[in-house]
Amino acid sequence: MNELANQVAVVTGAGRGIGQAIALKLAGAGADIACVDLKLEFCAETVQKVQGLGRKAWPFAANVSEAASVEATAEQILAATSKVDILVNNAGITKDGLLMRMSEADWDAVLDINLKGTFLFTKVFTRSFLKQRSGHIVNIASVIGLIGNAGQCNYGASKAGVIGFTKSAARELASRSITVNAIAPGFIETAMTAKISPEAREGLLKQIPLGNLGQPDDVANAVLFLASPAARYITGQVLSVDGGMAM
Ligand code: NAD
Repeated sequence: MNELANQVAVVTGAGRGIGQAIALKLAGAGADIACVDLKLEFCAETVQKVQGLGRKAWPFAANVSEAASVEATAEQILAATSKVDILVNNAGITKDGLLMRMSEADWDAVLDINLKGTFLFTKVFTRSFLKQRSGHIVNIASVIGLIGNAGQCNYGASKAGVIGFTKSAARELASRSITVNAIAPGFIETAMTAKISPEAREGLLKQIPLGNLGQPDDVANAVLFLASPAARYITGQVLSVDGGMAM
């Protein structure tokens, strides 16, 4: 299947985990990939794997939460790729803690990267999407943005924010055939969830109707669908990939 042939996708947080799986999935469907992560070296493995699939891949360093960094990187991306068709806002962090003990710094860091980062990266590519009258934007939210979680007030707020942002941007850009959708993954096996204690993991599994954690590829499959021509009539939606957690 080459449904993304001749397309260029930008994936933030592409160095590992879900972002790497998304980059490889889109490349497998024929897209060339601009890999963005905090440091150039974080992108090396993904770039090598994308090239192994026979597609072009470029590494870019950016902190998604800093406007100057995002703008400079977007310029470099457009200079290298000459166009962008797909943007996946995947970079994200957690800094968990109970509300009463949560520091302002931990609140700000999570909101800045997860929510402001999504805004900044979307804004910077909107001009070229508008000009070409096409584009698919996929934002990685979370089940926590839908149902909440004790100890994750900052993360839950940031991901609920991503969902509100997605719907507003979808309405704003729809007249130019630009789609904006979100995916709300449940608990997926990555470095982010490797921190969960065995006891907490037991409790977690009881909340997942399908009875196991998801894989990065489960999320990547949903991104491929929303970024492909098959989803051309879908915008402003939140697709849960969570083993049934949020139903
Ligand atoms: P991860 O920690 O394995 O990977 C995140 C990547 O983002 C890393 O490569 C990291 O370097 C990069 N990154 C972090 N801050 C950045 C910044 N400021 N600028 C640029 N890049 C930055 O995480 P993951 O589990 O692969 O999660 C990816 C996305 O999926 C996140 O948005 C996360 O919130 C979301 N998500 C994950 C899960 C899960 O269970 N793993 C569930 C729901 C949602």
